[in-house]
Amino acid sequence: MMRVILLFFFSFLFSFSQERCGAEFYRDLLIEKDLFQPSNISNRQALSIGQYDIPVVFHIIYNNEQENISDDQVISQLDVLNKDYNAENQDFINVPDTFLNVASSSGIRFCLAQLDPLGNVSSGITRTYTDLEVFSMSEDKMKMSSEGGIDPWDTEKYLNIWVCDLSGNLLGFSTFPGTDPLLDGVVIDYQYLGVLLNSPSPYNLGRTATHEIGHFFGLEHTFYAGCSDWDGCDDTPPISSSSFGCPDFPQESCGSLDMTMNFMDYTNDACMYMFSTCQTNKMINNLINQRAGLLEQNFCFYNSLLDPEKDKNILRVIDILGRDTKGSGFNIKIYDNGFVEKTYKL
Ligand code: ZN
Ligand code: CA
Repeated sequence: MMRVILLFFFSFLFSFSQERCGAEFYRDLLIEKDLFQPSNISNRQALSIGQYDIPVVFHIIYNNEQENISDDQVISQLDVLNKDYNAENQDFINVPDTFLNVASSSGIRFCLAQLDPLGNVSSGITRTYTDLEVFSMSEDKMKMSSEGGIDPWDTEKYLNIWVCDLSGNLLGFSTFPGTDPLLDGVVIDYQYLGVLLNSPSPYNLGRTATHEIGHFFGLEHTFYAGCSDWDGCDDTPPISSSSFGCPDFPQESCGSLDMTMNFMDYTNDACMYMFSTCQTNKMINNLINQRAGLLEQNFCFYNSLLDPEKDKNILRVIDILGRDTKGSGFNIKIYDNGFVEKTYKL
C-alpha cells in the first residue's frame, strides 16, 4: 500500500517538473506487475577489455511530422553513444584531475542493426504512424503493435530504442537486466534523441540515451540512496542528491567531492561526460552475463569490413551492393561523416 501511495506521489511530482529519467520509477512499476526479476549475479570484474558491438534498432513512432525524426537525427545519436561509451567524447577533457584515474572507456560500440529478425537487410530504423498523441510510461503502449506502438525486435538479440512523444516532461526511461522480454529496452522522447544544436533545451546533446543505456546495462544512479551510496560502485563518490543544471567543480556532499559530471547523474547534457571504471566493468559484466545474446549474432558485421584507419570518414555501411564489374572488390553504400549517402568501393 505504501508503495502505491509513493507511486502516486511521484506521478504527481513528475507532472510538474522536467523529469530526466523514469528508470527507477518504471522498475517499481514492473515489480508491482511481476515483470521484473533482479538477478543475483555477483559483480565480478570484467574478464577482458574488448570491443562489444551492440546492434540497435530505433523504432520511430510518430503522430505528426515533428515526431517523425530524420535518419540523420538518429545517426547523430549513434555517434554520441559511440563516443561517450569509449571516452572519445570531446568534453572528456573536462574530467577533473581528481577523477581522471577512474574515468573509463567501456569498449561498447553501437551500430544500426543491419539485418532484421527475418534476416533481411535493414536500415535499423523502423517508422510507425500512430493515432496516439502521447505515450505514457505506465502503459507500455509504445512497445505494442496492438496498442498504437510497435512490438520489439527480439530483445535478446537487439537493443530496442523506441522514440515517441512521452506524456508529461519525461525525457526517457529504460529497463534494467532481468525485465520481461516483451518490454525490454529504452524509450526516449523524440525531442531529446540525438544532437539538436538549434534546440534551446539543455538536453540537446544526446546524453539522455547515453544515460538510459547505462541503466539498460545495469547501472544505478550515482545518487541512488544518497549518502548511503548504493549505486554499487566505490569509485563514484556518494552524493547526497541528484544534480541539475551545470554544477561548478569542486563541490562536496557526504564528506567527499561530488562526481556531478557522471553520465548517471541528472545534469544538463553539456555537463556530463564520464563513466567510472567500476561502472564500465559493471556494464560489461551485465552484458556478458545477462545480455550475451546481443553479442552472439553480429548484426554489426558490415561495419567490421571497414578498416578504421583507412575508412575513418565512413560513419556506417548502409548496404552491400555487390561485387563491382571488374570483380576486384565490393561496392557498398555508406553514410560518410557529413551524413551524405555515397557509393564506396572496398
Ligand atoms: Zn536514470
Ligand atoms: Ca558510489
